[in-house]
Amino acid sequence: MQFTSTRTKTIKVNSPEGLIKGLSHDGGLFVPTTFPNIKEFLYNSTDKTYTDIAKHILGLFFDEFSTEDISTSVDSAYINRFDTKDTVKLTDLDDNSILELYHGPTLAFKDMALSVMPHLLTKAIQKTNLNKEVVILTATSGDTGKAALEGYKNIDGIKIIVFFPEDGVSDVQKLQMKTQEGNNVKVIGIKGNFDDAQTGVKKIFENDSLAKLLNENGFIFSSANSINIGRLIPQIVYYVHSYIKLYSEGKIKKDEKINFVVPTGNFGNILAGYYAKLMGLPINKLICASNDNNVLYEFFKTGVYNKNKDLILTTSPSMDILVSSNLERLLFETCNRDANLISDLMDQLKTTGKYEITDIMKNNLNDFDGFFANKEQVSTEIKNVFDKFNYLMDTHTAVAYNCYKQYVNKTNDNSYTVILSTASPYKFVEDVMKPLNNTVYKDVFECSNALSVVSNTKIPSQITSLKTALVTHTDVIEKNELEKSILKYLNLTK
Ligand SMILES: *Cc1c(COP(=O)(O)O)cnc(C)c1O
Repeated sequence: MQFTSTRTKTIKVNSPEGLIKGLSHDGGLFVPTTFPNIKEFLYNSTDKTYTDIAKHILGLFFDEFSTEDISTSVDSAYINRFDTKDTVKLTDLDDNSILELYHGPTLAFKDMALSVMPHLLTKAIQKTNLNKEVVILTATSGDTGKAALEGYKNIDGIKIIVFFPEDGVSDVQKLQMKTQEGNNVKVIGIKGNFDDAQTGVKKIFENDSLAKLLNENGFIFSSANSINIGRLIPQIVYYVHSYIKLYSEGKIKKDEKINFVVPTGNFGNILAGYYAKLMGLPINKLICASNDNNVLYEFFKTGVYNKNKDLILTTSPSMDILVSSNLERLLFETCNRDANLISDLMDQLKTTGKYEITDIMKNNLNDFDGFFANKEQVSTEIKNVFDKFNYLMDTHTAVAYNCYKQYVNKTNDNSYTVILSTASPYKFVEDVMKPLNNTVYKDVFECSNALSVVSNTKIPSQITSLKTALVTHTDVIEKNELEKSILKYLNLTK
């Protein structure tokens, strides 16, 4: 299996190179050259566990790795690190299902990929005889940062630097990152929003003179963001897993097409669902759920992507994004893989902040529908679902649930639907608690206690342990100081 750049037809890398590089040097994203078919696998796998399915899917894309390498990576990632029997939890809600993807070490779905990716990267480094220390740069809207830090902490030959918007994440997210342990980790707050952080990191990747300086000093940059194929491929697994599970429980028939509703930010999660569809998973619609930052909703409606608006801080901060990087990979498929066209569109985005896709591309977006939910709708939804079904959802999941209701209203489509739940309610406890019991709490711990009582659920140990954890990361920088802070951490001078 090879991976090609979305912006240059002739660039091709194998999976270890793709994992290490993260981003192609022309600014494009790596995409698989072909999509293996899993139709037969689906119906032969009714007895398979999550890890069995993960081994199969990862093996198809990362075929430079031995079966043994894939197998140990998957086992180390998922076994005993997730607090639910089969890694993810599929729960009935009304006539549909909720797919809880937050049972890992940091309570958000980012753990699904970031638990396994460090193992693959370590093996990729060995395979390519790299002889360099890998420096992972990550921009985060809150959840990627913590999940990457947990995945990469104390791994020899790797350092990780995380940039997050100092005032754009939840209190729990901030505490989780600022108390991060590990001898190879650095966490830095930025005076700006997530897009500032992401743009800053992308600029560093395109900075040739900096890359040269690092190279001369035995370092090489890599990325843990969802632009890395190591993030994307493991996310295909849970779409396949839920289909197999629903089929084996008799909830859906063979080849029955189902919907997935995905709370979306950088478009990585939903893109993995699209890849699953290209591999033969019977999917009807992928419903893209956005919050008040509804650039994607506008895009699916009009074919125009326009990021020229102010970023709004919402109660679902992990989706507070105006530039959804992974959309580039979808566009690439909708224009029959015309790298020149993608390159043009991305240049337009850089210079004018917007672009419009062609009519053919618009027609190829039929697999998707887009909706958005505002803060009030999210708040009301949390309370409605709790009152009606005694089910507690976090703010991101509530965005998805509300968008699903809008979708049904618009289409009357009653296909079986899986709603992806991307974070534990305890991670966004204040905004989850507000609609249930509008009281002011001293801090997130007091609020968690109240939530635990109201909902009769257990506070995850990842939250209680924060109470006594030491804050060790206190750096806050201006948004143009990323390079300076990286050089300082690596002890380099220009
Ligand atoms: C990252 C994240 C999202 C958005 O996922 P993308 O892959 O960036 O679209 C949604 N919800 C939560 C809780 C997240 O952490």
